Amino acid sequence: MGWVFHGSFNSSPLFSVYFLECELSSQSTMCKDEVYGDWYRGCSHFVASFESGNRIDCNDPYCGLSSAHIHNAPNCPCPRVTGEHRRIQNMFHKACEQCRTAEFNRRVTSG
Ligand SMILES: [Zn+2]
Ligand SMILES: [Zn+2]
Ligand SMILES: [Zn+2]
Repeated sequence: MGWVFHGSFNSSPLFSVYFLECELSSQSTMCKDEVYGDWYRGCSHFVASFESGNRIDCNDPYCGLSSAHIHNAPNCPCPRVTGEHRRIQNMFHKACEQCRTAEFNRRVTSG
């Protein structure tokens, strides 16, 4: 007598890593300013330390900031917005300073 339980293990520890990479690699067509900073996994916050000054051109002819922009009129309807191209220097497993301070204040004021 004996039986085998065919369970499924859906909760993989790799899931959080996958989610992080998913979020960071989400590309939208807009020019992006390169930003260096630290990633805090404890609260999923990116804390920028400085901008490198490099702008990654999206090469979209309908982006007002791109060098591939096709219009000459200054008031064309193309968007002129930049995103962040994040360069992660350090990855921490704790929460960022701001979140830890907020948590500390919450505990102090509620107690
Ligand atoms: Zn662009
Ligand atoms: Zn345009
Ligand atoms: Zn945070």
